[in-house]
Amino acid sequence: MNGPHSALRSLQEVDPGLGRLIRRDQLDAIRQSVLRAIPVNMILGLTGTLVAVQAGRGEMGAAWFAVSTLANVLRIALCRAPCAGLALDAATPPDAAEAAARLVDRHLALSSLAALLSGLVWACLPLLCEGYTAPETLFYLTVTCGITAGAVTHGIAYARIPSCFITPPLLSAAGCLLYAGGFDRICLAATVLLYLAALLRSGAATERLFRESSRLKNEATALARSRAAAHASASALAEEMRVRATHDGLTGLLNRAGFAQAVEERAEGGGDLCLMLLDLDGFKSVNDVYGHTAGDRVLVEVGRRLAAALPPGCLAARLGGDEFALCYDPVAGPEPTALAERLIAAIAAPIGSLDPGRLGMSAGLFLGPPSSLTQMLGCADEALYAAKAAGRNRLRLFDEGLSGRREMRRACERDLSQALSENALEVWFQPIFGRGGRVPVGLEALVRWRHPLHGWIPPNEIVATAAMAGLTESLLRFILEQVLTILCALRERGAPDVRVAMNVSPREMAQVAVDEIVLGRLRALGLPPSMLEIEITEETALDIEAVQGKLATVSKAGVRVALDDFGTGYSSLASLRQLRADRVKIDRSLVTGLTTSDDKRGMVHAVLGLGRSLDIEVVAEGIETADDLETLRALGCPLMQGYHLARPAPAPAAIEIVLNGRAAAA
Ligand code: C2E
Ligand code: MG
Ligand code: MG
Repeated sequence: MNGPHSALRSLQEVDPGLGRLIRRDQLDAIRQSVLRAIPVNMILGLTGTLVAVQAGRGEMGAAWFAVSTLANVLRIALCRAPCAGLALDAATPPDAAEAAARLVDRHLALSSLAALLSGLVWACLPLLCEGYTAPETLFYLTVTCGITAGAVTHGIAYARIPSCFITPPLLSAAGCLLYAGGFDRICLAATVLLYLAALLRSGAATERLFRESSRLKNEATALARSRAAAHASASALAEEMRVRATHDGLTGLLNRAGFAQAVEERAEGGGDLCLMLLDLDGFKSVNDVYGHTAGDRVLVEVGRRLAAALPPGCLAARLGGDEFALCYDPVAGPEPTALAERLIAAIAAPIGSLDPGRLGMSAGLFLGPPSSLTQMLGCADEALYAAKAAGRNRLRLFDEGLSGRREMRRACERDLSQALSENALEVWFQPIFGRGGRVPVGLEALVRWRHPLHGWIPPNEIVATAAMAGLTESLLRFILEQVLTILCALRERGAPDVRVAMNVSPREMAQVAVDEIVLGRLRALGLPPSMLEIEITEETALDIEAVQGKLATVSKAGVRVALDDFGTGYSSLASLRQLRADRVKIDRSLVTGLTTSDDKRGMVHAVLGLGRSLDIEVVAEGIETADDLETLRALGCPLMQGYHLARPAPAPAAIEIVLNGRAAAA
């Protein structure tokens, strides 16, 4: 008994919360047991009164019974009175629990007082039997013993209540018996006192047992509750971590890892899959012009629009940057190119305060039986690359043609480094004509590579492959050397005023110290910077921050700057000035066939006017026919370039064309 008792005490000491719960249980139990005991109390009280009436003490009996009933009514009322403290449980916050515990304690104290009152009434029984000397003494003594024993048996939860109830009647019985005197009465009084002591002790012991079992019950409940809470929070954490690991924090779509996992699961089911890669057009300019916060908002909006336009069951991911991916079952879902068109249209609709048309989206589609994700992504990427090359807001399905191109690009990536070191690459030059296309005034350097297996590789592919293979700077240096060589040759041949242009891709501009390299080499060879021109594409012009500094440096040194492919992509007339462009080159797509197209003529006319008003030279590229040449002359175009005038040629041939042309004009 000692063990659990001391354990209980120490537990209460460390955990007052548990102590409160135990007292709540005690109050709850005692309220029920008092309610059960009171009818017996009433019946015994009534019997005692009847016996008193029988013995001729009716009035006294009735008065006693009335007071006893009052006491009992009070006790019933107390047991039935609502007690907010009973609502206390382990989840109650500490402050509320403290208040609830105070209510419980008050109820227990009041119930103890009521029990004492009832006990005092029973202590008055001697009035009905002349102080235990009347013949009915045996009856009353038995009733007193019975009711006190019953009180202890009922009140196991809280010893103080039965103690308060039993002590007065038993003390009064023992006192009366002692007062009456006589050996047997004195013995009886002693027995009653012993009986009282035994009852008190047993009451205390049963209360300890009750408290111990209440403690165990509450501890078990608390344990179960905390287990459940721990389990719930562990599951929530695991879910949160799973979501974080597989989802993009910005858009809420899947991330690359989540997408890979989900696509692989899909692929296991067999059947054709459609995998779509989506890449924003002009997103970089959004970031540059509006800032990264606005860029993030645009990505979120794009993610939202994509998600809203997708068929059910379609996986959607943001793979990184401005690249998104989708995967779905094309048999169950919409026709892939129709879906891609819908998505492109959804992104083309104005977003917030962005100027309309700044943002677009291109799509590369893979459609077919599932293979490894890397392979399917590679195909979709190839298609995306082709779509991007065709312009903005385009889509392209991966087909056999692209498959061949993919092979070629792989081979190029593998072989480019060796080709560079073995001088297997060449630079050809295409003449640029002045005076309405009559006199050669310059050359444009164009890189050429004849791959042993795949033949001529388009220059854009060479540049992209170099970027992929980390050879951007080597390629730039190689081309620059060829350009410088032809510049030296032209100077030696007495044509130092023939300017040679070299193309610099956006990537080269951003990644390589183009300014230092170019100016350093010009200085080393003692060549005037004005003999060199750098052609950048409009795309570069949009990435103004990355290129502005470098272009300003070369421009200040005297190198000329031309804005290439003008009229394609996102037009940025404002950047012409910012980039210190001396020249714009109207893209071939606007020039070829302009004789028969009013639109093209209108555009070319406008650009020529712009050039005049900004004092910027204008070159028309891609003149393929005599008609187009005539039309351009009629429009007043000063500078021209095109197959009709001269094709790109190796350096020696190009020099001859230029020198002969100049001689003829002179
Ligand atoms: P670009 O700078 O606009 O170069 C003009 C392109 O148009 C050249 O194609 C040229 O051969 C072609 N072209 C010229 N006249 C005509 C014509 O009358 N009709 C047609 N159909 N085409 C004509 P190429 O050499 O294939 O170069 C394509 C693009 O690749 C170039 O466009 C330029 O952006 C890029 N590129 C070429 N060489 C280099 C280089 O050395 N470095 C970098 N970064 N890019 C280069
Ligand atoms: Mg060019
Ligand atoms: Mg061009």
